[in-house]
Amino acid sequence: EAEFPKPSRTRIIAVANQKGGVGKTTSVVNLSAALADGGSRVLVIDLDPQGNASTAFNIEHQSGTDSVYDVLEGRLSIEDVKQPADGVVGVDVVPSTIDLSGAELEIASLENRTDLLRGGIESFLKSSEEHYDYVIIDCAPSLGLLVLNALCAAHEVLIPIQAEYYALEGLGQLLKTIGLVQSSINPHLIISTMLVTMFDRRTILSQEVYDQVKGHYPDIVLETTIPRSVKIAEAPSFNQSVISYDPNGAGAVAYSEAALEIAKRSEKTLESIDAQRSGE
Ligand code: ADP
Ligand code: MG
Repeated sequence: EAEFPKPSRTRIIAVANQKGGVGKTTSVVNLSAALADGGSRVLVIDLDPQGNASTAFNIEHQSGTDSVYDVLEGRLSIEDVKQPADGVVGVDVVPSTIDLSGAELEIASLENRTDLLRGGIESFLKSSEEHYDYVIIDCAPSLGLLVLNALCAAHEVLIPIQAEYYALEGLGQLLKTIGLVQSSINPHLIISTMLVTMFDRRTILSQEVYDQVKGHYPDIVLETTIPRSVKIAEAPSFNQSVISYDPNGAGAVAYSEAALEIAKRSEKTLESIDAQRSGE
């Protein structure tokens, strides 16, 4: 296995799209597994009360488990709640439990309600003995307070886009929200990456969607697309990533190539973040 290039500092990436079922969690899990396979260390933060990423990594996350919920509410640190992913060397996971579904209401009246995750991540990265190359946050399909916490904590957003007819509908709303975040709570944020998922080579539509997204956002769309694949869909029910479940299959190959593209773009991405910071 060839090592992937490592970013010169930790990349904090929110994987967001308020549409459900576009491949957010699947991409978080498989990109993380692929990056780890390439020798990087990854911290996955499951910020969806459904806990699908926690399930895929086979870590404990029943109600009451120490989780991201406790981090948001300041009871515990990330150090306290993270668990090593089952069978994936190099990935640690901050689990989410169903308890998180009440968090939005509970934090709504706090003055720093959008800053809770950022504080948790910043203090963890400062104090952790481990160096993490990536922190990857799996967002719920909404534009609510939890997602705002992710967009506030992250330096960059990765948007998975499903290759289907309505792919670009709703994207405007997401970009508008990101724009609002940039102009208020997190001016440093950039949209670094778009990844077209569930690409079906047999349909003209998939290619049309790709071309359209590429036409609009030429610099941030990955060349690699993720194919629609039964193995990708099956892997979580075996508590595995597709990287370990079907290592030579098209799904694993595609996620590994996408991860390598992301890794190779690290310095360019970090430069864009710095430029955004200094308001260039
Ligand atoms: P989100 O997190 O955006 O809601 P998921 O990653 O959970 O979306 O994916 C939604 C569903 O589609 C899941 O059942 C998942 O297994 C399936 N899926 C995701 N990506 C693919 C793919 N490339 N091929 C086939 N099924 C996929
Ligand atoms: Mg999900």
